[in-house]
Amino acid sequence: MASNFRPALIVVDVQEDFCPPNGSLAVPEGRDVVAPINKLLALPFVLKVATKDWHPLDHVSFAANHAGKQPYVDFVTIVNPENATESYSSRLWPVHCVQGTGGAELLAELDVGRLDRIVEKGTDRRVEMYSPFYDPFVSPRVSDSGLATLLRDHAVTDVYVVGLAGDYCVKSCAEDAAKEGFRTYLIEECTRSVDAGNWPQCKVAIEGSGAKVVSVESPEVLRLMTTTTAP
Ligand SMILES: [Zn+2]
Repeated sequence: MASNFRPALIVVDVQEDFCPPNGSLAVPEGRDVVAPINKLLALPFVLKVATKDWHPLDHVSFAANHAGKQPYVDFVTIVNPENATESYSSRLWPVHCVQGTGGAELLAELDVGRLDRIVEKGTDRRVEMYSPFYDPFVSPRVSDSGLATLLRDHAVTDVYVVGLAGDYCVKSCAEDAAKEGFRTYLIEECTRSVDAGNWPQCKVAIEGSGAKVVSVESPEVLRLMTTTTAP
């Protein structure tokens, strides 16, 4: 394999709480991503990472932690705990992916035996963290999972992003991978969105970041199938 092509796969948040039939924040058709993702997991990526949304029960993104607020419909202002001048409005969610609960587990049908690493995200109760790289605050950043360093330690050149949910954590993951300088591909058949109607608009934003949204039959994915070894 040419040394200038060292692909990594990032499987974002394929967890019970994001899937029917029992997930507290079930993404429509969320379970359908597993079959195509398992096919990808059999390919020779140099690094295969799964991420897990992994919240404490008092996490800022849960509507239940804000008096009078409803999940999905209400928003809350999240302030950088280390810099009161940095803040933004963030959507509130049902309680989901609480550390150590069944809802936080990766789907049993996901081929976890092929994973090299699991990265936890959203562990700091004070900040929302859609991206598995880090929270959205910049001055200073509050929570960093170490994912960018992990990819660099493996000399990764190309990052393939799949998982849930397309319009939130998968989108943010692809945008940050591109920002970190990796050639980045989001494989469209391997994701589903909370609001499917917003996906076309999300794709425009993702491509604006420099990442590409591709099909499982694109040359970028077919290339993985003709790769023979992964050092
Ligand atoms: Zn979350």
